[in-house]
Amino acid sequence: MYGTVRDEIRATLEEIEAAGLWKNERELTSPQQAHITTAKADAINFCANNYLGLADHPDVVAAATAALRDWGFGMASVRFICGTQTLHKQLEHAISDFLQTEDTILYSSCFDANGGVFEVLFGADDAIISDELNHASLIDGIRLSKAARYRYRNADMADLRSQLEAAKAAGAHRMVVVTDGVFSMDGYLAPLDQICDLADEFGAMVLVDDSHAVGFVGDGGRGTPEHFGVMDRVDILTGTLGKALGGASGGYVSTHREIVALLRQRSRPYLFSNAVAPVVAAGSLKAIELARESGAGRETLRHNTALFRELMTAEGFDLLPGSHPITPVMFPGEDGARRAAQIADEMLTHGVYVIAFSYPVVPQGKARIRVQLSAAHSEEDVRTCVAAFVAARDAVR
Ligand SMILES: *Cc1c(COP(=O)(O)O)cnc(C)c1O
Repeated sequence: MYGTVRDEIRATLEEIEAAGLWKNERELTSPQQAHITTAKADAINFCANNYLGLADHPDVVAAATAALRDWGFGMASVRFICGTQTLHKQLEHAISDFLQTEDTILYSSCFDANGGVFEVLFGADDAIISDELNHASLIDGIRLSKAARYRYRNADMADLRSQLEAAKAAGAHRMVVVTDGVFSMDGYLAPLDQICDLADEFGAMVLVDDSHAVGFVGDGGRGTPEHFGVMDRVDILTGTLGKALGGASGGYVSTHREIVALLRQRSRPYLFSNAVAPVVAAGSLKAIELARESGAGRETLRHNTALFRELMTAEGFDLLPGSHPITPVMFPGEDGARRAAQIADEMLTHGVYVIAFSYPVVPQGKARIRVQLSAAHSEEDVRTCVAAFVAARDAVR
């Protein structure tokens, strides 16, 4: 009996729309790549997490195609019943080898990895100390654990120290500091060197969700721990295969051997959800191989990011500082949200696809267009994007 629920839900939908928070989905009529097509327009895509351009890489597609033939389409099982193929073990080994960890456990997504890691490791006697800007999946995963929760201001080391002191004073047994490696709305890196120092001082573990870094941050693409020289000091890494590493789906927890062993026994999204499809496992395996070798891809990505920042700054745009390919172009103030949205729409008519973000996704008055560079972009693509920004700024007042 749907009854009055229909009216209530319709009212909620209207509220969302009236508040300007409606999310529209543009339908792509092409693969995910630098140059995409939609029903309305052809565009250069500057809003995918396709940092290394592997999402449609011919070698990845070939590996996935071969797996479809050799390993079938689906697993129809969770891992521990009959859902583990050689491919899954190879992929777990490849991630451990790449990230220089003892072991790795795969999940269907990083959302699931984060949903499944805390409850197993942290109970009522323990404390989880979490950055306020952490990804929704970390927040939800932490909620599922019975541990005491402490939140520190974004990348604020003085506040992290206070929260660690509070957790310790409350008699916490296990403590863990939890952070995104890269904060996705700003492109800022968490200061992992300082976080590891503080964690050591208080006897806490460190968990980093490196979804927006694995594959391309750090000289070898091993992520933010490599960038900060703390690969041997971060205890638990989580991450996604759905961004730079092929962009299909799947996530992982990569960490000490005993923790992986326990997660395989107790982690609910692992135990009660289907194994990653063989096509995805094989494609991801190839993507990791390419990312490992992809010094050239990382160099192109760095070059594109630096060029975009340089040209945009010269045109007088207001960018958040940094070097991550997430490059927020800011439209501050009361009118910023409207301008950012209109400029993004206008840019599509110039063949450039970008997305505006405003409150509540980012703080009030800090609307932005978040541009994401890729190694798949050519220098000309980057210049076209800048030209579209300039033209749209002139068109939108
Ligand atoms: C994208 C992202 C996720 C989600 O990854 P999925 O594999 O798509 O579920 C989790 N954490 C962070 C920090 C992310 O950026």
